[in-house]
Amino acid sequence: MTICDMSVTELSKKLATGELTSVSIVRAYREAYEADKSSEKPLHGYIEFFETAEQDAARADEARATGDTRPLLGVPFASKDNISIKGKACTCGSALLEGYVAPYNATVTEQLMAAGAIPLGRTNMDEFAMGSSTEYSSYGPSRNPVNRDLTPGGSSGGSAAVVAGGLAPIALGTETGGSIRLPASYCGIYGLKPTYGSLSRSGVVAFGSSFDQVGLLARSVDDIGLMLSVMGGLDRLDDTSTNTDFSALANLKSADISRLKIAIPKEFMEAKGLDPEVAAVFEQTCEWFRSRGATIETISIPVLEAAIGCYYVIALAEGASNLGRFDGIRYGNRRDPGTGYDDLYVKTRSEGCNAEVKRRIIIGNYILSNHFSGDTYKKAVSVRARIQREVAAVFESFDILLCPTSPTTAFPLGEKIDDPPAMYLSDLYTTFANLARIPSLSIPAGKSTQGLPVGVQLCGPQGCEEKILEVARAWEEDK
Ligand code: GLN
Repeated sequence: MTICDMSVTELSKKLATGELTSVSIVRAYREAYEADKSSEKPLHGYIEFFETAEQDAARADEARATGDTRPLLGVPFASKDNISIKGKACTCGSALLEGYVAPYNATVTEQLMAAGAIPLGRTNMDEFAMGSSTEYSSYGPSRNPVNRDLTPGGSSGGSAAVVAGGLAPIALGTETGGSIRLPASYCGIYGLKPTYGSLSRSGVVAFGSSFDQVGLLARSVDDIGLMLSVMGGLDRLDDTSTNTDFSALANLKSADISRLKIAIPKEFMEAKGLDPEVAAVFEQTCEWFRSRGATIETISIPVLEAAIGCYYVIALAEGASNLGRFDGIRYGNRRDPGTGYDDLYVKTRSEGCNAEVKRRIIIGNYILSNHFSGDTYKKAVSVRARIQREVAAVFESFDILLCPTSPTTAFPLGEKIDDPPAMYLSDLYTTFANLARIPSLSIPAGKSTQGLPVGVQLCGPQGCEEKILEVARAWEEDK
């Protein structure tokens, strides 16, 4: 096994025993990155591979030699381009923020670094995390390592591509509505969206504040547990921080599947657009659970049909508000002020943002305008409250909720780029978990007949990360 195939758990063990040095790990990843960059169809998962990673690794090796035993000492991780790393550019995949350097660390970055981890590079994303394919990045799209003519999904597509493509052992991503789980599913890896509020968003660029979250993309369940174990806790810099203690996740066990009660939402299985190939892999996954003694019941949650519409109303309204700060005065590359402020705003945004971001600013502001109906946002918020209530009620009788992560497998680059509603429908099954604020883990459940990865989500009640990770671990162990 080469260094680039090893999990975080394996790397940290080998670092502890002295079998590997952090410098050798970072070099292996740099070489893999450079080889990929000069290949015919590069993944383009990284926007920047840090020159400083090797120096950080050398410092970690020195620290170890003097008795430092921090859990992630010398372990590298990749980080999405909307999460601040002090002294590094943080551009959200946008030309508007070209040259912006983060003046401080995001809390999640700080926590990982405090545990000894090393940032390897910034990963590509749809501009301002608005998209499902990474094609809306101003740096150009990333490719899917499984088939390089396909998208890796988005918006954390760069993070998924580097982890699945062996260019990083693990990566941070963010979700507003599925942006970790969708790319994890398309690239055949694990992706966790934790409970809303459990990881701090301080230092993470805002999109839809009532949804935004940090999470992880990884090649194994234990890797997610290990990284999460040093994150969490109360952060006074983020008002939504819930003081979640994840420290026990460093030692995950495998769940006993035989007593598990699983719910499958009928609305998703009957949705138009569910690819029969995805349905077939989902059925095999259900069969595995049944063969281990779990009971599975199909239930009806009619309000789920409103999830995607409800998500897009709230996300666009909040997105338009949050993007207000990118005006060329507070943030964003200032263009020629011309005749005054109006000209400055117009030019800065017209030249700095791509068509999708502009579309969302316009629709989002329209949703919030009195002219349209000031009530639309409020209505969506009340639908969300109902989704939260009805999903929470499911967990009074069931342990987990199981459904496909996406209605389809990864789609070809270019296929949906000019068809926003088709792009939005990639999120058909993911956004309900953001609305309900529950944790959801996408597992690489199997492959289509063309060999494309299919993800299945394990969702639990708020605060139940440990349970869904332990269920996933039992499944992983058996593969
Ligand atoms: N695809 C969704 C959107 O474009 C999700 C984005 C995200 O989770 N950041 O809004």
